[in-house]
Amino acid sequence: MWAAGAARRAGLGLGLGLGLGLGLGLGLAAALALAAWRRQRRPVREVLFFPSRPSCTEAVLVEAAAEPGAAARPCPCPLPQGDCPLSRLLRRLLSARRSLEICLFAFSCPQLSRAVQLLHRRGVCVRIVTDAQYMGIRGSQIGLLRHAGIQVRHDQEDGYMHHKFAIVDRRMLITGSLNWTTQAIQNNRENVLVMEDAEYVKLFLDEFERIWEEYNPISYKFFSKDSK
Ligand SMILES: [Zn+2]
Repeated sequence: MWAAGAARRAGLGLGLGLGLGLGLGLGLAAALALAAWRRQRRPVREVLFFPSRPSCTEAVLVEAAAEPGAAARPCPCPLPQGDCPLSRLLRRLLSARRSLEICLFAFSCPQLSRAVQLLHRRGVCVRIVTDAQYMGIRGSQIGLLRHAGIQVRHDQEDGYMHHKFAIVDRRMLITGSLNWTTQAIQNNRENVLVMEDAEYVKLFLDEFERIWEEYNPISYKFFSKDSK
């Protein structure tokens, strides 16, 4: 009786000990996993400074397009390859899986245009707001992007639609002084801030939606001027 009770108590003690040990072990493992996940998922905080030296971004675009066998063929162009502000900007954009809002005064950079078209083909919902006066000039990518089926809206004001920002997956804000032109990318001193910050993303997204609605073609006013 006593022996059985002691054995039971011992068993209970062992069970408790094991349980506690296991619990602590699992707790520790979970805490470590959470810490690792947090390290991995630390919000993006990055600044890209331009000019970016002329460089080959073919690998970044081909990798994103996942064209079979394409990765094995190095680009034959003589430009240096590797990391540069433009390739970093491309990678940030190409991380989009669901949505991409773009608000740009000038968009003529062919590589960035390819990235945007690639996202559109991949099923990402792309919306572009741009400046009416700039979008028609030679080299502008807006016509091509529209032709690819991407939604574009433009201002109808005397002032410029001078913003330069993009929002990836309603999660990451890309903003700064840079217009997406080769001229600016290769020659100008520019800064681009990349951040995952819910508050700033929301403020920019709200403004994008406001402008998007304001530039809705159904509310165009420039025809009414002549009709009177
Ligand atoms: Zn190349």
